[in-house]
Amino acid sequence: MPTIDYLRISLIDRCNFQCTYCMPEGIDLQYVQQQNWLTRGELRQLLTEIFMPLGFARFRLTGGEPLLRPDVVDIVGDIASLPGTQDLAITTNAFLLSNLAQDLWDAGLRRINISLDSLDPEVFQQIVGGRGRSRWPEVWAGIQAVHRVGFSPLKLNVVVIPGVNDHEVLDLAALTLDRRWHVRFIEFMPIGNDDLFKDRGWVDSETLRQRIRQRWGLTEGQVQGNGPADVFQIPGALGTVGFISQMSECFCDRCNRMRLSADGWLRPCLLNETGQIDLKTPLRQGKSLDDLRAQVAELLGAKPDINYKMRESGVTGAYSRTMSQIGG
Ligand code: SAM
Repeated sequence: MPTIDYLRISLIDRCNFQCTYCMPEGIDLQYVQQQNWLTRGELRQLLTEIFMPLGFARFRLTGGEPLLRPDVVDIVGDIASLPGTQDLAITTNAFLLSNLAQDLWDAGLRRINISLDSLDPEVFQQIVGGRGRSRWPEVWAGIQAVHRVGFSPLKLNVVVIPGVNDHEVLDLAALTLDRRWHVRFIEFMPIGNDDLFKDRGWVDSETLRQRIRQRWGLTEGQVQGNGPADVFQIPGALGTVGFISQMSECFCDRCNRMRLSADGWLRPCLLNETGQIDLKTPLRQGKSLDDLRAQVAELLGAKPDINYKMRESGVTGAYSRTMSQIGG
């Protein structure tokens, strides 16, 4: 088993986009009230008193949309300056990024993943929802801003939905030809929008690789990340293409992460709700941090058996929280 040293921290469960595969318009999501968000101080306390002593050293801020959290720059500054932090990254939809890129850099952030499911403003708007003008230009401006400021690696995440954006796979892969960008194709998972999943299904990574291989060729990338992506490179390209294949391939045995929701629930597996612990309530009640740490240590021990067991049956509708609520 790998060392579990990576915590994905959801800062907020709200999002300014309503991506059709994640939190489609019209669904009734119960948002966590602001007073129930882990505060900046509580986050720092949990990291220094619970997670870091247990070996966690790599952190990702996510959501919902983490840039909606008013104190996101301060939280980045806090975590970046902790001596135990080896790595800090953020996952964002980039809509608010142009104005925040420099502040985030100055606070110590160096790595950003941006969700970009389409290069076509109309398709993009269909995916992210909302009426009126497409929000693609702001997102693209955000991507340019982080590129200018110097964030590296810059990763773009694409969830591939059959009949929606799978025709853009080559265009998206082509972004890596003359930029040091990393485009990662993610298989659509049955969490968030079951109807869309049942209707469209998912495209397996090998099919996408075939298409890219036929167009340009494809070699095993020189950079292997420490996450779940299988990394490849188009010959001569500056960037890489990665594939996150949680539907077609089981990578539970190399899973090195846990997830902390905005309201303080610690979850050992994205696709299995077993074993979650509420950390916020005991923290606010002043319960012993030693006891809490022991509880988290116990969950770490149980994690190998808490994994994505429903892959074979293809069951959907099984989750009480979506990616946006858990922290994708
Ligand atoms: N708002 C931020 C963003 O857009 O990147 C961070 C949160 S979002 C929930 C994190 C990632 O989860 C995104 O890359 C999104 O595409 C992915 N995601 C959400 N629902 C998914 C699903 N059903 N299958 C695969 N990926 C999903």
